[in-house]
Amino acid sequence: MRAELKQEGKGYVEPGNDTHLSQLASVGQIAAGIAHEVKNPLTAVKGFLQLLEQDGRNEYIEIAQSELDNALTTLNNLLQVSKPDLEDEAYQTIYLAVELESILNLFQDKLYNITIHTEFNHTNIPIVGRKNQFKKAFFNLIKNAIESIEGNGTLTIRHDLLKDDVIVTIQDTGVGISKDKIPLLGTPFFTTKDQGTGMGLTQVFSVIYQHDGKVMVDSKENQGTKFTIRIPHKKVMSQKGGRTLNLHYVEKASIKDFFFENQKIFDERLLNEAINVKDKIDEIHKIGNINLLANAHKLVLYVVEEREHELISFAKQEGIAWAKYSLTLAFKLEWIQAIRRTLWDFLYNFDALSNTEAERSAFFTLEKQINESIDQFLTYFFISYSKYKDELLDIQRKLVENLPVPIIPINKEICILPLIGTIDPQRLSTIQDKVLTEIEHHHIQSLIIDLSGVAPMEIESTNKLVKIIEGITMMGCKIILTGLRADIVKRLINNETGFTPLAEFKGTLQQALNDVIYHHQP
Ligand code: ADP
Ligand code: MG
Repeated sequence: MRAELKQEGKGYVEPGNDTHLSQLASVGQIAAGIAHEVKNPLTAVKGFLQLLEQDGRNEYIEIAQSELDNALTTLNNLLQVSKPDLEDEAYQTIYLAVELESILNLFQDKLYNITIHTEFNHTNIPIVGRKNQFKKAFFNLIKNAIESIEGNGTLTIRHDLLKDDVIVTIQDTGVGISKDKIPLLGTPFFTTKDQGTGMGLTQVFSVIYQHDGKVMVDSKENQGTKFTIRIPHKKVMSQKGGRTLNLHYVEKASIKDFFFENQKIFDERLLNEAINVKDKIDEIHKIGNINLLANAHKLVLYVVEEREHELISFAKQEGIAWAKYSLTLAFKLEWIQAIRRTLWDFLYNFDALSNTEAERSAFFTLEKQINESIDQFLTYFFISYSKYKDELLDIQRKLVENLPVPIIPINKEICILPLIGTIDPQRLSTIQDKVLTEIEHHHIQSLIIDLSGVAPMEIESTNKLVKIIEGITMMGCKIILTGLRADIVKRLINNETGFTPLAEFKGTLQQALNDVIYHHQP
């Protein structure tokens, strides 16, 4: 019947889409805001009216008071439903069939001319959510159904499982809802009843949407109405929904045992979650001898057993390994987040399989603790990673500073000094010491300094280089400069001292060698 109606576009709405939800939320929020603002002055007026009444009875005051009471009641209703988070009710496991049964009991005095028909299947499938909110919602739906029946009628309530959703239908043989009114359902204050508040369905929609559910309405005037509520039963309401995995659970097993019992599935899930890392596992193993899966198991163990110290030292150790082998940080991040999600799924399944009310609060504590532990792991990992990298940089710097000054002898009297890389004053000091000592010890006659491999130099360094060349010449050694780049030449030309009297220039090292060895050699 529903499909038929849907096809014809008659009397069927599925307000489960997001647009409607956000509309509803904002209407509710604005209304709540206004209600709050309006309530205070009204309460004050009520006080004044009471004072006036003491002075002398006046029927207008009475009317004003009763109208005011109505307004205040309305506002309270609105505040109640539009702020369902007000009491911040904790999530818990709810067996809806059980709740429906107890709600029906509340209507017993009204049911003498109504036949109740219940059909509860899959009653062992729970949902997770705010129990009182759900009870209120189903109370509102059943109340509407009963109110719709004039004289005799039937109320049918069903509980079922359809794929991953728990389905509850509440069907009456009442007056029905006209096609044009259907889009108005759920709008605050929409009512067709004299004594109605028009807040019942607003509350229903708000709660069902909050739990990622859907509300469907199927109605025919003078025939009846069917409300269908669909709620995902797998959802853990922490924004990090769990998926039901086919896991093995031994009665009273600890989380750790549960985890190791199902380790194979854990690995599968984890690899599925970490799509980019998946292909790198072997490579990472080869480069750094890091076994990612084994490390994931270790991390999980430390997390679920709250072994904080081991967790921290493990994080540090991993940070160093990752830095040492220059492994890509993005992979680590993806890997850890994948572990977090997989752990979630496991926790969710563990909870579902070992479910008792007593363990419920422990579950939410554990949920929080797991998140914090993994964050802690990441923090220590990164600290140790960057510390290691910094130290490495420092060591490399020192290494470069102490690089041996390579003075290459061509023959007894001629040597080459090829300078490569960044030449800063500090390095030039080392060069100066080394070169002067070598000249003195080995009586070097000609020194070819090749600059073709140096990085652009600061003025300070150029000046220092000029000084060194002066010193070398002073010791009676001839200098031949090769591989001078334009920028260095420019600097040297502008330099007061100038190279010209001190050194000879050759374009390339090759030329210099030719000259020195074949022409100038005595
Ligand atoms: P109230 O019950 O206070 O009017 P609700 O939000 O619960 O407010 O319902 C809004 C309106 O929706 C009702 O006034 C009625 O017209 C219509 N309605 C809701 N449920 C049913 C139903 N089962 N049968 C017929 N009409 C319904
Ligand atoms: Mg109602």
